[in-house]
Parts: sequence; structure tokens; C-alpha cells
Amino acid sequence: MKTITTNSPEETMQIASEIAGKLSEGDFLALEGDLGAGKTVFVKGLAKGLGVEDHLHVNSPTFVILKEYAGRVDLYHFDVYRIDQEHFSDTLDYRKYFYGKGITVVEWADKIKDIFPEEYLEIVISHAGETSRRFEFLPHGERYEKLVNGES
Ligand code: ADP
Ligand code: MG
Repeated sequence: MKTITTNSPEETMQIASEIAGKLSEGDFLALEGDLGAGKTVFVKGLAKGLGVEDHLHVNSPTFVILKEYAGRVDLYHFDVYRIDQEHFSDTLDYRKYFYGKGITVVEWADKIKDIFPEEYLEIVISHAGETSRRFEFLPHGERYEKLVNGES
């Protein structure tokens, strides 16, 4: 497990952008943390790192559940705040995304834990001060252990 503290939204974007550089097709990132923790800011940084042109326009897709962005690898950005697991899996063919060619990132991921892929990177974000946030990286599976430990 690895923990990183950032001291501004810009720093969070920078860290996320660097992480994006190590991601590839089919990766799955589960973001957890309260409202205002910085989940969406983190996704903006991912989008930037993946070369998504309008990454600054990435926002919480709360009312649409999913937004897709085209980059070096496509980014599937989910926000499941307003939906429960049952509705989520009934309404949407999520497997197409979770096991698809893009990178999936889910805000409020703990709400749909039972349908996660077997391996994923869990990122728990918490407030550490007004403009400080703590990011805990919890790898599930070998792929993500290597990623977190800087071996891939
Ligand atoms: P969430 O998606 O988790 O609800 P957002 O990413 O939308 O949260 O919002 C995070 C808020 O916290 C933004 O207003 C951002 O400017 C602010 N913020 C302050 N410090 C940080 C930081 N270090 N990292 C990320 N966001 C921060
Ligand atoms: Mg958000």
C-alpha cells in the first residue's frame, strides 16, 4: 500500500496524470471518498495524462452515470453516487466498459463493489486539510501491486 498527500488540486491532477501514463487498456480504478474529496479532480488529471483534449471539461457525470472520453486509450468515467448496484447493472451493460478496451474509473465505487472485476486499483481519498488530500492506493491483484510498487 502506498499513500500520497497532495496540497492543491493542481498537484492532484499532476499525480493523476503521471499515473495515467502507467495505465493501459482494461485497467479499472475504484475511487472512494466523500463529497469534495477530489475524485473528479483526480479523473481530470487522468484525462489530461491520457491526452484527452478537453480534459478541463471533465466533471462529475452524476446525472448520466457515464461519460466517455477519447484519448491515447479511451477513458470511461462513471459516477454511481445516485444509483444503487441493482439499478446500475440493470440499466447499463457495464461489462462492455469494465471489460472493454478503455480505462474505467468509478467515483463512489464502494457502492457497486460486488460487480468489480477481480483485479482493480482501489484509491481512497480523504481530507487532510483545507487544500490537502490523502490518497491511499490499495492494489487488488498482481497487476496493480506491480503498478503501485513501481514495477511496471
Ligand atoms: P469529488 O468528486 O470527490 O466530490 P471534486 O473533485 O469535485 O470532489 O472536488 C474537490 C474539491 O476540493 C474541488 O473544489 C478542489 O478545488 C478542492 N481541493 C482542494 N484541495 C485539493 C487537493 N489537494 N486535491 C484535489 N482537490 C482539492
Ligand atoms: Mg465527483
